Amino acid sequence: MNDQDVFSPDYATARTRFCDLASKLGWQVESFPREGTGPQGEPLVTDAACSSEGDPAKVLVVSSAVHGVEGFFGSAVQWALLRRWQKEGPLPIKCLFLHGINPFGFAWRRRFDENNVDLNRNFLLPGETFAGAPETYAKLDEFLNPHRPPSSWEPFMAKAAWLIVRYGMTALRQAIATGQYEFPQGLFFGGSRPSPLQSLLAENVPRWLQGSEDVVHFDLHTGLGPKGTCKLLIDYPLNDRQRTSLAKWFGEETFEESQTSGIAYEARGGLGRWCVAQQWAPNYLYTCAEFGTYGSVTMLKGLRAENQAQHWCPPKDPRAIAAKDQLAELFCPRDSVWRSQVIQRSYELVDQAVAGLLADA
Ligand SMILES: [Zn+2]
Repeated sequence: MNDQDVFSPDYATARTRFCDLASKLGWQVESFPREGTGPQGEPLVTDAACSSEGDPAKVLVVSSAVHGVEGFFGSAVQWALLRRWQKEGPLPIKCLFLHGINPFGFAWRRRFDENNVDLNRNFLLPGETFAGAPETYAKLDEFLNPHRPPSSWEPFMAKAAWLIVRYGMTALRQAIATGQYEFPQGLFFGGSRPSPLQSLLAENVPRWLQGSEDVVHFDLHTGLGPKGTCKLLIDYPLNDRQRTSLAKWFGEETFEESQTSGIAYEARGGLGRWCVAQQWAPNYLYTCAEFGTYGSVTMLKGLRAENQAQHWCPPKDPRAIAAKDQLAELFCPRDSVWRSQVIQRSYELVDQAVAGLLADA
């Protein structure tokens, strides 16, 4: 087994491997059936695995597939970590792994869930409303979300280049990706109500984290930033302790707090901000661990084509299959160098988090 073998070809395989190995390690696995079925009729399930050893006051949380298709990567990291601890022995701290938290998107190879919701735009806080869209998004709706199957003849790159000239890259990215609540079939739709995932987490995480004091949560993502690199993105106001821990444990260069400069953009309804607001533990350090793959225009092109395919093609249509194949490649490249890099980097981040949790208590 090497770094390549930890990547599964589909959701069903990923899920089986994850549950089998976690159970073998003596972790408690709980499975939560979710809405719908996968392309082969397979059940869609979110699986949670809790280690039975380790200090329950210090917890490492690793979640995968909030953006479905990114689960090919996230699940690989979770499985690689389990396999490593199988060889090296258990960690001295407790672990909670959440696998396939958007199983529909993972199984159907799309970013969004069964209701076309971008779950990382769905976690609004009390007082925030599921309404609104950036003005520029509304203007770009026809371009972003055409009501027809994808076509490889369309001059997407030329149109995108023209828009970048007109609006500027930063403003355009901000307008498109920040989240919108007005175009239910569009990209980056945050939904019209809290998703079932929210109640699943609210009902169960307090139990899993009972007795915890210091928690580090890596929510695994791909698709932003230079290929093979990793940034820990923060979408909530850090307190001094959190900022100091991030700098000391991972290095100043590794995390990005400001959402308007660097690779990130300011998004509404992020999972991290909501998790932190739940106050599940006195010190809850959440990071969106973002690993780069392809350039942002290529990513947008792929997301747009897959979304067209999802809404305007039958599932077995060759155009739909091609668009989804391409999306899986964009979010989890087959390139063996990339795959080794991201697995090794994930080991490093987890080692740093564990060392930090043990030292700082
Ligand atoms: Zn993501």
